[in-house]
Amino acid sequence: MWPFLFVLATLGLCFGSFSNVLIARMPQDESIGGRSRCPHCGHTLSVRDIVPLLSFLWLQGKCRLCRDPIALTYPVVELLGALAFLCAGWITSFQMISAVPLGLALWAMTTLAIIDARTQMIPDMMTLALAVSALVYQLTIGTPVWSGAILGVSFFALQWIVSRGAWVGSGDILLAGALGLLLGSWRYMLVSLMASYIIGALLVSVLLGLGYLKRNQHVAFGPFLVAGAVVILIAGDWILRVMLPL
Ligand SMILES: [Zn+2]
Repeated sequence: MWPFLFVLATLGLCFGSFSNVLIARMPQDESIGGRSRCPHCGHTLSVRDIVPLLSFLWLQGKCRLCRDPIALTYPVVELLGALAFLCAGWITSFQMISAVPLGLALWAMTTLAIIDARTQMIPDMMTLALAVSALVYQLTIGTPVWSGAILGVSFFALQWIVSRGAWVGSGDILLAGALGLLLGSWRYMLVSLMASYIIGALLVSVLLGLGYLKRNQHVAFGPFLVAGAVVILIAGDWILRVMLPL
């Protein structure tokens, strides 16, 4: 059990570190190859500067050369990566063959939710990474079920057609398809969509109430779709039993 936890946490920290690169570079269409630099002094980071989490602790949160503070978001995103993989381990009862693709899917979901929240854009490459991991995960636990993906795509494609692209973006259609593939059955996808709207409505009311959001301000929906799917991955069977006792 402990070796599994260690492997999953380490994988998660490395992918979380990769998320930091993707979050910074993907929206600018920058190449994701190439060495990272300190955003303040521009010095090229070496291996000892980029060990996930440990570098941040060694360097006490400051650039090795210019001592400029490193944003706390870097280690937080790395920890989110570790959390994604550990959560996948827990959901799959530590069956490594399913835990790794599920961890990758959760990692892709977290990364694209952060990018969408910041830029209102979902990079297609991230949705593709999610769809492939979801398909591999489904293959490790049985035969893939497509009804969730069909429901997700139809639900958003219909809104997109009716509103001529005003209510939802094309990125939401693809994301809903990939999440549907991960969840499998249309029943899970249906409660996942309901959970997304409930979480979205609650959070937006709170943010409006606190003045962090203005009326008519556009809010990215991707993070709520992701949050709904995470709730269903963790508690879907329980929620379905409560909602449909038969
Ligand atoms: Zn620096």
